Amino acid sequence: MSAEIIDGRAIAAKVREEVARDVERFVARHGRPPGLATILVGDDPASAIYINGKQKASREVGIEPFHHQLPADTPTEEVEALIERLNADDAVSGILCQLPVPDHLDGVHLTGLIDARKDVDGLTPLSAGYLALGRAGLRPCTPAGVMVLLDEAGVALEGQRAVVVGRSNLFGKPMAQLLLGANATVTTAHSRTQDLPGVCREADVLIVAVGRDRMVKADWVKPGAVVIDVGMNRSDDGLHGDVDFEDVKDAASWITPVPGGVGPMTIAMLLRNTLNAAELVAREGAPA
Ligand code: NAP
Repeated sequence: MSAEIIDGRAIAAKVREEVARDVERFVARHGRPPGLATILVGDDPASAIYINGKQKASREVGIEPFHHQLPADTPTEEVEALIERLNADDAVSGILCQLPVPDHLDGVHLTGLIDARKDVDGLTPLSAGYLALGRAGLRPCTPAGVMVLLDEAGVALEGQRAVVVGRSNLFGKPMAQLLLGANATVTTAHSRTQDLPGVCREADVLIVAVGRDRMVKADWVKPGAVVIDVGMNRSDDGLHGDVDFEDVKDAASWITPVPGGVGPMTIAMLLRNTLNAAELVAREGAPA
């Protein structure tokens, strides 16, 4: 039997509609919209496309975008000063610094300067610490989006065996923490894992974020498992995930396609995080 498709486009559209409704309520209560500040250093074309997408999506749900475009040779001190200004600016609810930054800058250092209450990418050490400790905080958008997809598909995670392939700070590590928080039994696999197909076959929920075109085959998948494909690999014949969808779809019970699975959730969750950040600051007061 063929797997049911988890339709990320439809679920992301639903999240955006919910955010738009909640933004309206926020504006009615506070007399101003939440604001999302984006910083792009340099003119990397792919980054410019991502930033445009984030600004457009913000406008569509009523979040005010503030874009800061800086020349590629901007010194560290200037980016630091901009982040400090945005941290202190009440009109700015969320801040994101688009990565990668040019080589003379340290993206991890710069991201770490963002006030955790405005860290809508959920990537600062403080946000990562809150997640590891199971405390409230802003969560990284893509893994948070996967949790929404699993929830919408009605996947009960408690007691289930989840395998996350990939251990990046951006995705694999926070994904494992979120699954643990939902009481799954979690294994994180990576490039040094022995017998990766065998480890994957143990998964009731298999989440793959590696960046290797169609690596996961049907015989890596336990019959009836839920398979979430985070990979985005562009080649001459189009965009493919890390999972060989055509091969795996008859083994899995639920599966995300690429494109149209996890991808659309990332921006939707960025919007949700921006609104959550605005509400948090409205409740607890502006950052010092
Ligand atoms: P990354 O930082 O390059 O991390 C890749 C991870 O995969 C590493 O932990 C690496 O292991 C592991 N890995 C590499 N080759 C492997 C192999 N042959 N077997 C097992 N594990 C292997 O990448 P990322 O940022 O996490 O992204 C991963 C993929 O997800 C990419 O295709 C990216 O485009 C996609 N992505 C999509 C979204 C979205 O919005 N849809 C968001 C984020 C990422 P080591 O740690 O041992 O090197």
